[in-house]
Amino acid sequence: MKYFSLNNKNHFVSFQQAVIQGLAPDNSLYFPEKLTKLPKDFFDTIENLSNHEIGFEVIKQFVGDEIPENELNKILKETLFFDFPLIKVEEDIFSLELFHGPTMAFKDVGARFMSRCLAYFNRNNDVKNTVLVATSGDTGGAVASGFLGVKGIDIVILYPSGKVSDIQERQLTTLGNNITALEVDGVFDDCQDIVKKAFLDQDLKHKNLTSANSINIARWLPQMFYFFFAYKALKKFNKPLIISCPSGNFGNICAGIIAKKIGLPISHFVASTNSNDTVPRFLVDGKYQSKPSIATISNAMDVGNPSNFIRIQELYNNDLSEFEKDFSSYSFSDEETLFEMQNIYVNTGYISEPHGAIGYLGLKKEMPNHAECIGVFLETAHPIKFLDVVQPALKITLDIPKQIESVLGKQKKSIKISNYEDFKLFLLK
Ligand SMILES: *Cc1c(COP(=O)(O)O)cnc(C)c1O
Repeated sequence: MKYFSLNNKNHFVSFQQAVIQGLAPDNSLYFPEKLTKLPKDFFDTIENLSNHEIGFEVIKQFVGDEIPENELNKILKETLFFDFPLIKVEEDIFSLELFHGPTMAFKDVGARFMSRCLAYFNRNNDVKNTVLVATSGDTGGAVASGFLGVKGIDIVILYPSGKVSDIQERQLTTLGNNITALEVDGVFDDCQDIVKKAFLDQDLKHKNLTSANSINIARWLPQMFYFFFAYKALKKFNKPLIISCPSGNFGNICAGIIAKKIGLPISHFVASTNSNDTVPRFLVDGKYQSKPSIATISNAMDVGNPSNFIRIQELYNNDLSEFEKDFSSYSFSDEETLFEMQNIYVNTGYISEPHGAIGYLGLKKEMPNHAECIGVFLETAHPIKFLDVVQPALKITLDIPKQIESVLGKQKKSIKISNYEDFKLFLLK
């Protein structure tokens, strides 16, 4: 499979090159050259397949022959070793829980898949790659855990000082080994800007920089799996499926749209956002105007300029009317989010956290526009990751899962930086 740069459709690279580079040389995103529909019998018999078998069928065309089948199977085994339960919250509404992995963030899947692809590509050489990752919350921990100890790879995580939760901060600052956390005096967009600038910097060429944000195809594409898992579990109801994704950088939902393009019967998508409403505003007037990110209680989605949105535009040929048929996007304030978390809990007993609750809100807003449908919202993090918000809002005390307990006692280690120059000094020292 070849990938092209969204800025230059004559620039093609292999899967391996796209994964190793992260961004195209013109700083744009890579996109698969073609999307091939999966065969009908795959969908006819999907309920008999394991998650691992589904993952293999789905990702195969994107990897091509660049990773042999037995190696790809091994990578998938190490990626999809935990459950993705679909929980009925109320009549026709389900929560797809994506948080049962090692860091209790849905990004565990993409991070583990990508790290193992890189390890495979570096198996016979002494190349050292430096993976840069800007995080507004959950990506950092998932990447740190997914890449911990992986041969030939140094991980540098940039996170906005004081704007991630205590547990999130510990997950990305306590592992040591090949993981370094840089604490940036700024917001998430500042972290992302530093990373983008670094890729263009000729002085850093020799560092073999790549990205582990969802701009990297190996982080982004495995997220397709979730949508297939939801379909597998709900196929028996034989109703149109609506899926709401709490969205920040729009990688997850964009993977869902790819899943649809390769044949998965999803009837409608909802991109649910917090006050960072660049995409909901775009759907109102057709103008894409990014703005600086605003801090919210759903901080993993505090993104003012979602990097994957240009992939979504590509998928719909920049045609707003086509796009609107499949896709809605709504934004919700912190007040609405807190109110809904309480509502869900009181009415159904289900404990959501701010991101999932925003997914639920978007789903509820969209469902009345469709007759006889079934709705799924993605619950992208365990409530414990946002305990400062969840416990007081729901007046409950959460049990601490073992994945989290293991980081709580550990000592934070980070390096403070203020700007790009500090960053560069660190990298070159
Ligand atoms: C990253 C993240 C999101 C947003 O996913 P995108 O792919 O960036 O849209 C939502 N919820 C949580 C908990 C996250 O960590």
